[in-house]
Amino acid sequence: MKKFHPECMEKTPCPLCCAEEEFLLHKFGDFCVVQCKKCNFVHLNPRLKEEYSIDFYKASDYFNDYDGNYFGYESQKRALKKTFKNLINKLKKNTLIGPRLLEIGVAYGFFLSEARPYFSYIAGTDYSQEALDKAKNYANELWLGGLDDIPEKIEAFDLIVLIGVLEHVYKPLEFLEKCKNSLKEEGNILISVPKFNSIWYKILRDKWPSFKIPEHIHYFTKDHLEEFSKEANLKIIKIFYHPHYFPFNVILSKLGINLKQKTYLNRIDMPFYDVMLTVVLKKIK
Ligand SMILES: [Zn+2]
Repeated sequence: MKKFHPECMEKTPCPLCCAEEEFLLHKFGDFCVVQCKKCNFVHLNPRLKEEYSIDFYKASDYFNDYDGNYFGYESQKRALKKTFKNLINKLKKNTLIGPRLLEIGVAYGFFLSEARPYFSYIAGTDYSQEALDKAKNYANELWLGGLDDIPEKIEAFDLIVLIGVLEHVYKPLEFLEKCKNSLKEEGNILISVPKFNSIWYKILRDKWPSFKIPEHIHYFTKDHLEEFSKEANLKIIKIFYHPHYFPFNVILSKLGINLKQKTYLNRIDMPFYDVMLTVVLKKIK
């Protein structure tokens, strides 16, 4: 675990209910994953201050170390695209596809590349310029930065997508409210976060791969995500149960078995369920 200067760290009350009392669940170096005694929400405390974590996302090598080892984001391209294709089929089946799409945190544009045929206007953001360069073929407009860097006068969107984003966000409530302001009245927000109370967490405990420290600061269950949404005047209208694909060699590496990059096993993607909690939200009227 990387060491950080104490001045880069901060303590925080519960981001959901503001209570101060907490249980320690796991310790990773100087960072603790804690559970609020009042509302049970799980978060990182202490955590890195926001300005230092944003430096992480701006770094050109952020996606190269995507999986905490030598499997970069690019090497998981095919598996991720399969995952996203499946997700888009679910959106299509539920008639949640509208003409204008916004994705916050586009990474290399793997989701956008699958979404491209179904939307007439696609926009997105990312903190990494390198990521935007890779994603640029799949979008009409991309902005460097986050939600605050979207031009104010932009027309509202039919669908806003946050995949693997909310667990990084320091003020989830404010963030959801801002998303809502960029959403059409009848629009939808798709949120996908690592599922905290999943079978994988229960089995793997502190080896759970979604303990990506120090970047993942919030760990959502469906109930807690619902509470944040309600506070932001949004409601969950749909939960998607969908597979998340991983290349076989990534799974082996998690078990401590490292194969050479170029074996035929590299070409096999395995579907796992209960990895992500994926929901669709609508404005409460
Ligand atoms: Zn709480």
